[in-house]
Amino acid sequence: MDNTTETALIMLPGPVPVAPQVLRALSKPMINHRGPEFRRLLDESREKLRGVFKTESDVLILNGSGTCAMEAAVGNLGTDKRYIALENGKFGERLKSLTALYGSSMAVIADWGTSIEVEQVKQALETGADAVTLVHNETSTGMTNDVQQIGALCRKRDALLIMDGVSSIGGIQAPIDRWGVDIAFTGSQKCLGLPPGLSMISVSDRAWDVIKTAEKRPYYADLLAHREAAEKGQTPYTPAMPLFFALEEALKLLEVEGLEARIDRYSVYAESIRTAVQAMGLELFPKLGPSSAYSNTVTAIKVPPKLEFMALKEAMERRGIVIAGGQERLKGHIFRIGNMGNLSKGDILQVIEKLELILLENGIVDAMGAGTLAADCVLEGS
Ligand code: PLP
Repeated sequence: MDNTTETALIMLPGPVPVAPQVLRALSKPMINHRGPEFRRLLDESREKLRGVFKTESDVLILNGSGTCAMEAAVGNLGTDKRYIALENGKFGERLKSLTALYGSSMAVIADWGTSIEVEQVKQALETGADAVTLVHNETSTGMTNDVQQIGALCRKRDALLIMDGVSSIGGIQAPIDRWGVDIAFTGSQKCLGLPPGLSMISVSDRAWDVIKTAEKRPYYADLLAHREAAEKGQTPYTPAMPLFFALEEALKLLEVEGLEARIDRYSVYAESIRTAVQAMGLELFPKLGPSSAYSNTVTAIKVPPKLEFMALKEAMERRGIVIAGGQERLKGHIFRIGNMGNLSKGDILQVIEKLELILLENGIVDAMGAGTLAADCVLEGS
């Protein structure tokens, strides 16, 4: 039975709660997607997104969720490229599959939730590669990978760097140009606080040089076709217009809040969740190393031994809160709390309070208060 109500608070690492202004924009009347009004919307959105990505490069907006941009990033380089795919979670694994599909791929793998060894990447690059793929924020494990060091290695070896920023761009510091990232992408339903369905991708001049000479590129997600159309204020095929209207509103909200303030807000939320769950005796899932950090957009927590994940999920849902479980091999072992989108401090406190209550009911904590107090201290101290 689905116990969620219309007002359920979705604390998933995407989709996320969407602000009312953004939701309202979805119901605006359609306009001519080949006319001046759409051109203005597209030009302004692309310009603002360059600020969010901290890049001077082109940013293109694609119909399609994050995976569409993942595939565009790899597929547009042609079918003869040699990749090094870094994997320490489910999305690194997905990029590895894409690189194997479109080119030849060598993987540097760390256990999911553990740090990637930079030395191993260095050694792999010595064997020669055209491009490296890396997930900045591994949503599946609640861990953020260090991109800067990998970017520097790629520059030295003249390899392109493709960065999945689906759950980081707009919510965790990700200065694309400063880190030397050639292709970066995000999805609408994460840090930007939109419904799912759009992805945004930046492409450096170095990457364009490769894309231009690729013997084959995908059809729908042909980035050259997207760039050509964007220069005329259009998309090559019909844009998902309601989502573009919503994007305009979401970018206005981001502008009003300020990118740095948004990043700080998410980091305070994540820190308060981490502090609270540890105060309740729960254990964070990631095992940090020298090239990783806890994620500031999603927290992955080990399911306590005396509780089944499904029981926890259902108990939270009965109290109006939706949390995520682990994916694939992590199913049943971890649960995840996202903190992106239209969320207040009060929402975060509510989540912690309800989690604490469920832990009390299940004999995992023996008194209420430690977690909620810990979360409150972080939130109020911010
Ligand atoms: N990459 C990361 C890091 C993600 O978190 C996700 C989705 O959660 C994706 C890629 C895939 O995005 P989508 O599900 O929007 O296709």
